[in-house]
Amino acid sequence: MAVDATLPYDDQNIFAKILRGEIPNRTVYEDDFALAFHDINPQAPTHVLVIPKGAYVCWEDFSAKASDVEIAGFVRAVGKVARDLGLVAPGYRLLANTGTHSHQEVPHLHIHLFAGQPLGPMLRP
Ligand code: 5GP
Repeated sequence: MAVDATLPYDDQNIFAKILRGEIPNRTVYEDDFALAFHDINPQAPTHVLVIPKGAYVCWEDFSAKASDVEIAGFVRAVGKVARDLGLVAPGYRLLANTGTHSHQEVPHLHIHLFAGQPLGPMLRP
C-alpha cells in the first residue's frame, strides 16, 4: 500500500529493521549518515537504495526536519555511492517516491539509484 507522507514515522518499517540489523541486506556503502544496499527487486542492472540513518518517513519529512549536518552527510553519501560504483561517466538516475501519488511503499526515506543501461524516458507516458 502506498505511504501517506504525512503520517508519523513507524519504526517497524522494513528499512528501520534493516538499519537495526534485524533483516539482512547486501550493503554497498555505510557511514554515519547513510546506508546503501541493493534493492531486493532490481528494476535496472544496478538498483541501489540509499537511506538516511535518521528516522524520516520521506523526502518531505527529511527536508523539513533533518539537521544541516544530516542533510549534507546524506546527500554526499548518495554522490559517493554513485562515484564508487563507477556510474558518473555512463550516468545514473535518482528517484525518491514521496507519498501516495508516487507509490512510495516503504515509509523510510530512500533514494533509488538506477544505472547500468540507457534508462529511457523519465516517466511512462
Ligand atoms: P518505493 O516504492 O517505496 O519507492 O520503493 C521501495 C523499494 O524497496 C522497492 O524497490 C522494493 O523492491 C524495495 N524493497 C522492499 N523490501 C525490501 C527489502 O526487504 N530489502 C531490500 N533490499 N529492498 C526492499
